[in-house]
Amino acid sequence: SPLGRSPAGGLSVFVTDRSPVACYIGIGSNLEDPQAQVHKALDDLHGLPESLLVATSALYRSVPMGPPDQPDYINAVARVDTQLEAAELLRELQTIEQRAGRERTVKWGPRVLDLDLLIYGNERIAEDGLEVPHPGIRERNFVLLPLLSVAPDLEIPGLGPVQQLADAAGHEGIVRLD
Ligand code: AMP
Repeated sequence: SPLGRSPAGGLSVFVTDRSPVACYIGIGSNLEDPQAQVHKALDDLHGLPESLLVATSALYRSVPMGPPDQPDYINAVARVDTQLEAAELLRELQTIEQRAGRERTVKWGPRVLDLDLLIYGNERIAEDGLEVPHPGIRERNFVLLPLLSVAPDLEIPGLGPVQQLADAAGHEGIVRLD
């Protein structure tokens, strides 16, 4: 049947017996009410096909990388278990980004939402337009701290324990919001 039963007895979002892959998605916004953008993005992740939103981090405020003359960022990380292929999942994330941009900014205006596919199970992918684990994870505490909070025992493929990476990245320029 197209709608399987989950072990708990409720309706499952998963359409086949294929094992879902545990993925982590980084969320960032620094325009157009960033906190609302992040909450909206989490809502959208909840609606992904063939996927289950399993965990979401708190929101964090971080100083921008690069040019300092821009507003602080709001960041979060979500765990999504999915039966989508990595490339399909990235396309879904890009659709969510574009929808946020189209609704709220002028043409060619800055993006209000950045979604990064940080981790896709144990896979290491290096394709045109898709690199996983995301190459920015290692030095970005605004990714590592929320990631650590939802997956404290995670081993990041090719990079090592998230705890070690977070310790090395430190807390400069970032605060966790209540
Ligand atoms: P950004 O400006 O950071 O949103 O980068 C978007 C570009 O990065 C797109 O062209 C994607 O194809 C590419 N990209 C490569 N790997 C990833 C990934 N793991 N998650 C998100 N975008 C990625």
